[in-house]
Amino acid sequence: MTTLQDCRALDAQDPLRNLRDLFILPEGVIYLDGNSLGVLPRAAPARIAQAVTEEWGQGLIRSWNSAGWFSLPQRLGDRIATLIGAKAGEVVATDSTSINLYKVLSAALHMAAQADPKRKRVVSERSNFPTDLYIAQSLCKERGFTLDLVDDERIDEALGADVAVLMLTHVNYRTGAMHDMAAITAAAHRHGALTVWDLAHSAGAVPVDLHAAQADFAIGCGYKYLNGGPGAPAFAWVHPQHTDRFEQPLSGWWGHAAPFEFTPEYRPAPGIARYLCGTQPILGMTALECGLDTLLAAQPLGGMTALRAKSLALTDLYIRLVEERCAGHGLELVTPRDHGRRGSQVCLTRRDVKEAGAASGAYAIVQALIARGVIGDFRAGDAKHPDILRFGFTPLYIGFEDVWHSVEHLKQVLESAEWRRPEFNQKHAVT
Ligand SMILES: *Cc1c(COP(=O)(O)O)cnc(C)c1O
Repeated sequence: MTTLQDCRALDAQDPLRNLRDLFILPEGVIYLDGNSLGVLPRAAPARIAQAVTEEWGQGLIRSWNSAGWFSLPQRLGDRIATLIGAKAGEVVATDSTSINLYKVLSAALHMAAQADPKRKRVVSERSNFPTDLYIAQSLCKERGFTLDLVDDERIDEALGADVAVLMLTHVNYRTGAMHDMAAITAAAHRHGALTVWDLAHSAGAVPVDLHAAQADFAIGCGYKYLNGGPGAPAFAWVHPQHTDRFEQPLSGWWGHAAPFEFTPEYRPAPGIARYLCGTQPILGMTALECGLDTLLAAQPLGGMTALRAKSLALTDLYIRLVEERCAGHGLELVTPRDHGRRGSQVCLTRRDVKEAGAASGAYAIVQALIARGVIGDFRAGDAKHPDILRFGFTPLYIGFEDVWHSVEHLKQVLESAEWRRPEFNQKHAVT
């Protein structure tokens, strides 16, 4: 059996331990939701205040040049590039994940239609994050493609000579299951299809190598593992062999080759800058910069490889402790045990618990945990997936002792049946 002492010893030996000092972690909280909203970097409040009072307050319009505001999408993009196996100049931090998906999927559909107009199918996973599916649905409708949603074990067989684009999220938001990006991209390419990868739960969470995988397009989120703050700008990457082949449809002036010539005709900028649209939220960009700095601080300590090793150690420990200490309460592991298939989160379900009038209890258990200061979240099930208790493990600031205590709270919530209290069974707008 693993003990609290064992967990403390793991923290004492952890070379990444001091990175948690880069964050402001609320007292009495074990935060297992960095996969939904990353925590506040310690440097952010003063840096954002400086951007407000000095750059905005004093510099005013001059700050577009003097404070480097104008080039922030590219400068932050270059930092993100180091985390996802892209090169400098290939990534822009901009807009939201949903909007960036619209831009890159448009480009992919356009290129596919030019290469072979008979390719009319876009393949994705039924369990993909809804916004990805919604954006794909409207684009497919507008451009005369059909969206084919399949279960993850059916992706290979869904590929064929009529497929234009395979659009997948690398790590599934609900289950934490991770795709083999290189193998699936290679399969898509064998069938002549382009790939669009959503890295929302991958960037800053697991090592990603877009060039090694020969991916075509990628997008990702700024407010999850990149710690950029609520609604932080997202990012877009396009393989350099494709970048200049298409003018993305949101052809705003920031994507123009020479925005300050103010010409009436749109002329797309060369390279990834054409994936910009309009004026960017500079204060949000400033917060994202602080978030990225926390990940870059891990680079001298081994970077994403070291973070990944710790993330797997944390999730292995969590799984082991739940199985040792919460046995008999009907919990089942949803996230793959196989390291090659696991993101940086652990999802549990209570699939087999069927009590009269009771739901799975997953929502109420999460609420009871939150009341105890252990913050995870709940994701509703669908036809294929049961209701899920979801716990994200961000190796930058979660320690092994945190894992111990979070399982201890889970055990107590289950043993005391505290989760049955009415206040934990009332649904809030955001779960
Ligand atoms: C979080 C997430 C998003 C978020 O999109 P927004 O435009 O930021 O709301 C999109 N896709 C996936 C897969 C996500 O996990």
